[in-house]
Formats: sequence, structure tokens, C-alpha cells
Amino acid sequence: MRGECPKCKVNYIPEPGFYFGAMYVSYALGVVVFVTIWAGANWFFTDVSVWTQIIILTILIILLSPLIFALSKIIYANIFIHFDKNTSNRVEKDD
Ligand SMILES: [Zn+2]
Repeated sequence: MRGECPKCKVNYIPEPGFYFGAMYVSYALGVVVFVTIWAGANWFFTDVSVWTQIIILTILIILLSPLIFALSKIIYANIFIHFDKNTSNRVEKDD
């Protein structure tokens, strides 16, 4: 991960351990994936056993974990790091 934006020089790591908070976002995304797949499986395939659902969900959560990891950090960064138009313009003129 980059330390700062190459264009506007916004600091992507404001403090050590900043992205630990992203695990709450990751948890929320995991719940969304879980509920969506579980509800979909029960809605469209009514005779799927509980163990089949658990296996499918476990495999999907493992396969989607790199995506959930990246998305949670992106969402968390967008909550707390804001684009500063003035800083951006100043830096772009210096280039
Ligand atoms: Zn930028």
C-alpha cells in the first residue's frame, strides 16, 4: 500500500495502526456476504442442507477474503481521509 497519494500527497497512513479499525468494516462486509448468500440459498434452493450451506459459505468467505480485506481498507480510508482541494492544487502546480 502506498504511503501517500502520488497526485495530491494525501497521507494514507495518518498514524501507526490506523487500519486496525478497518476490521470493523471487514466484519460488516462479511456479514453482508454471509446474509446475502444464506438468504439466497434458502430462497432459491429450499432443500439445501445446513451443512451444505455452511461449507458453501466457508469456501466463499475464504475466496472473497482478499477482496473483503482490500474493500474494508478502502472504505475505512474514505471515512477518515479526505481529499483536500487546496493542497492538491498547490502540489499539482509544483509538479
Ligand atoms: Zn490524491
